[in-house]
Amino acid sequence: MADGEFGGYGGRHVPDPLREPLDELAAAYDEVRETDAFREEFRALLEEFTGRPTPLYHARNLSERYGADIYLKREDLLHGGAHKINNALGQGLLAKHAGRERLIAETGAGQHGVATAMVGALLGLETEIYMGKKDAERQAMNVFRMRLLGAEVNEVTRGGAGLADAVDVALEDFAENVADTHYLVGSAVGPDPFPRMVRDFQSVIGEEAREQFRERTGALPDAAVACVGGGSNAIGLFHAFRDDEVAFYGAEGGGEGPDSTRHAAPLASGTDDVLHGMKTRVLGDDVEVHSVSAGLDYPGVGPEHAMFRAVGRCEYTAVTDDEALAAFRELSETEGIIPALESSHAVARAIQLAEEGAHDSLLVNLSGRGDKDMETAAAKFDLE
Ligand SMILES: *Cc1c(COP(=O)(O)O)cnc(C)c1O
Repeated sequence: MADGEFGGYGGRHVPDPLREPLDELAAAYDEVRETDAFREEFRALLEEFTGRPTPLYHARNLSERYGADIYLKREDLLHGGAHKINNALGQGLLAKHAGRERLIAETGAGQHGVATAMVGALLGLETEIYMGKKDAERQAMNVFRMRLLGAEVNEVTRGGAGLADAVDVALEDFAENVADTHYLVGSAVGPDPFPRMVRDFQSVIGEEAREQFRERTGALPDAAVACVGGGSNAIGLFHAFRDDEVAFYGAEGGGEGPDSTRHAAPLASGTDDVLHGMKTRVLGDDVEVHSVSAGLDYPGVGPEHAMFRAVGRCEYTAVTDDEALAAFRELSETEGIIPALESSHAVARAIQLAEEGAHDSLLVNLSGRGDKDMETAAAKFDLE
């Protein structure tokens, strides 16, 4: 398989001005990632800066309730509150080792922008975050966090002033400034080399979990479950188990918007198309993505997941807002852990599988913590 090809998905579907920057980035990645200096610094900072390894937690109350052993990989305990920092740190270090002085990133809800700003501060790289003006207004606290961390936040007003417009502006910046700038993409999406690079940086999740699970139980889990937005935490969990007899389950956002036909599940219900430089599963223009969790609100998905779906390696299901919110509450009450709304989709799917008696042991990636979701949750539940 050619680099960046995942069974006919992926590739580099970009306009001419982006070809050279991507060639240079791919070459830098292939060169730097195998060096001892890079690997050692990444390993050390994952430990000291982000707090790895994260624990594997046996959710005993939930397991007892549903009659299956449910284990949670606790990415919610990482610095910044989610798995996003693994990738931000990996790409930030790559940029530094490749002699770049500046990071740019786009962000929707702001979580990836905050992770990038943290890494920019750590590594002394100038950092500029592009954010749609509408998103910046809705996520004022994250804008403040990014600025506090020393990043410049550039509010994009063109087009619909949303995430897609921020992507366009960031790509233009990258094409113009490739000599000194790295574009830090936030999920396993986009043109090659991003999907494989982000997967590699997130693979630490599954590598740790595989070791921990074996140590604890003497075996591997029957199934691994993760939520899928762009697909980075899921591919990061799955990768270490790809050649094992472990079933994979991906939970997409299947929220209903105002006209009840809207959802954010390109794997469960999309078609093959080209989006943001990659061939993948995409939702049509007539469908507006919607999920109660901002992190799952993306009309496409990483190309490796499109391949997993095509060959039947992973089963992808849309989980509704209501199902995710119920799991959010249930995990809080039964285990004393408040998950991110994104991660709640994976918990909901794991509970369904346990109820069906599909597997005896389930490994669930708890991709992030729920602190950022308190306002959303408080508007949904009346807890008097
Ligand atoms: C951003 C985010 C996601 C979705 O991104 P992926 O690339 O699909 O992993 C999932 N969970 C949390 C907590 C997030 O912040």
